[in-house]
Formats: sequence, C-alpha cells, structure tokens
Amino acid sequence: MYTISHVVIAWLTFVVLPSVNGFGYSKREQHLWPQKHKLCAGKLQSPVAISTSKAIPLPLPALEMIGYHDFLPTPQILTNNGQTVKLTVSKNATRERLPYIFGATLKQNQHYEMEQLHFHWGIKNNRGAEHVLNGVRYPMEMHIVHRNVAYSNLSQATQHEDGVVVVAVFFHLQDEHNEFFQALASKLAGVQWARTELPVNMSITLMSLIPSNTDVFYTYKGSFTTPPCSEVVTWIVFATPVPISFRQMNTFRVLSNGEETLGDNFRRLQDIGQRKIYIRRLYSAFSNKYNDSRLNLTNLSWFWL
Ligand SMILES: [Zn+2]
Repeated sequence: MYTISHVVIAWLTFVVLPSVNGFGYSKREQHLWPQKHKLCAGKLQSPVAISTSKAIPLPLPALEMIGYHDFLPTPQILTNNGQTVKLTVSKNATRERLPYIFGATLKQNQHYEMEQLHFHWGIKNNRGAEHVLNGVRYPMEMHIVHRNVAYSNLSQATQHEDGVVVVAVFFHLQDEHNEFFQALASKLAGVQWARTELPVNMSITLMSLIPSNTDVFYTYKGSFTTPPCSEVVTWIVFATPVPISFRQMNTFRVLSNGEETLGDNFRRLQDIGQRKIYIRRLYSAFSNKYNDSRLNLTNLSWFWL
C-alpha cells in the first residue's frame, strides 16, 4: 500500500506531460507529413544518404566546440515525448553558459548554443540512424541541436536559414560497455512511459557522447527530420561512430511510445537534389579542381548561396 509520502515523492520526480498532436513513423504516416506540414515536401530536406566518394573534400576550419568538456549544468531534464528521448538543460535552474559551437562552414562571428539532444534508433540492430553513410545505416544516431544565439529562442531561430546547427553522431554496437555512455543509459528506465519527463543530475559532458575524432565531418544544408521539417539546419555529421554495447542499446528499446516499443523513429531518406555535401579534409594537397577562387574559405559565403 502506498503511503502519502510515496505519492508525494513520485509526484515530485515524475511528471506526466499533456498529450501532444503527434506524428508517426510508419511508411504511411511519413507519407502524410506534408499534408499538415508543407515544408516536409521541400527541396532541402533531411536526412540524406552520404557517400564519401561523392562528397566534396575541402580544407575547412575545425568545428570549435566550447564547453563540450564541461559537465552540463544541472538539473538536466530527460523527456520521453512519445517520439524520442530528449535531454535538455533546465534554463531557469542555471545561468551558466551552455556549450556552444562555431567554425566549420558557419558564418563568421556566429555562435550556436546547445538547445537539447535526442536520439533516433531501431528496434533491430540493422537500422535506426537517419543519415546513411556509405550505404551503412547504423543502429542509432544522436542529434545535438544548437540555436544561433542571434535569435532569442528555438522557434525564432527556425524562422531563419542560419538559425540551427545539428551535430549528428552515429553509434555502432560492440560487446563492451561504453563507460562514458552509461550515465545516460542508466537513466532511461526513468522515462519508460510516453509523455513523461524526469529531472536528473548527471555528471555528463557532451564530449563523452561524441567521437574522439572530430576532425573529419560531413556538412550540408538541410532540415529538421521531424515536422514541421523547417529548412534551417546546417548539418554537421561526424564520420567516426561512437561504440556502445548491445545492453546499452537495449536501454532505449524498453521505452514506450504510448502503444508499443519506441523505436524505428527515423525518417526515410530524402533527395539530395542540387545540394552538395562537403567533407572536411585536414591535408591541403588538393587537386586544382577544388582550389577554386569561388570557394573562399575565409568567409565561406558560397556555402550559404
Ligand atoms: Zn533528430
């Protein structure tokens, strides 16, 4: 029998969110996204298939990641919104600076601050990631969503083509635990049910969730991969996947979307169309083909054309 104190503690630590107008990931449901959200039928949609041999190599500046080595401010909020599991930092709880990024193909003097991170994964190991790299669909992909600090909040940022950067990280499976990933994996059972959120105090850095090699990445202009599919995202996709264990992968598969197991929450591939995908290469021994005066690496305005 529950005592009053049990009920109060449960109420303080576990919040049931109101039901939201959701969207589904079945083939049929994805086909219907543009009916409610016209942008989902746009020409700059994500995810896309990435091929190393077709990507244009450039000696781009590094992606500068400030605060990625610091523990995220606490409390963080873990949310199962029925479509994914999301980690945000409670903004009213801290005045600490959140991690931010600049460099790469981003416009000079523009900084992008972390808003949240979330995951896309498969029910089976042969699928789950949204982007496909050289024909491989990894079992999971993490998105760290960053907002251009020139805009006051994420909904403002989604009105501007330079509003958002999403850093994408692939995961691959191995027998051994990834000890850096365990803090997060061990909390997932706390948001098993759809539309629940849980405050957590994890000693966790963004650096512990991304590959140790961040030198090589792909970048292109695209969209959010969920409705309303706004075409305001500069994608930065790290080439190197992060290892996690099968057991850690399965901590995602105990989550519920309200009806069944939450998973296979990845969007189907979108046409790349006229867009180019660039790959950062460190060495400068390029053929003259890419030594083109139009590609001014100092101001990078060509990337935004
Ligand atoms: Zn995502």
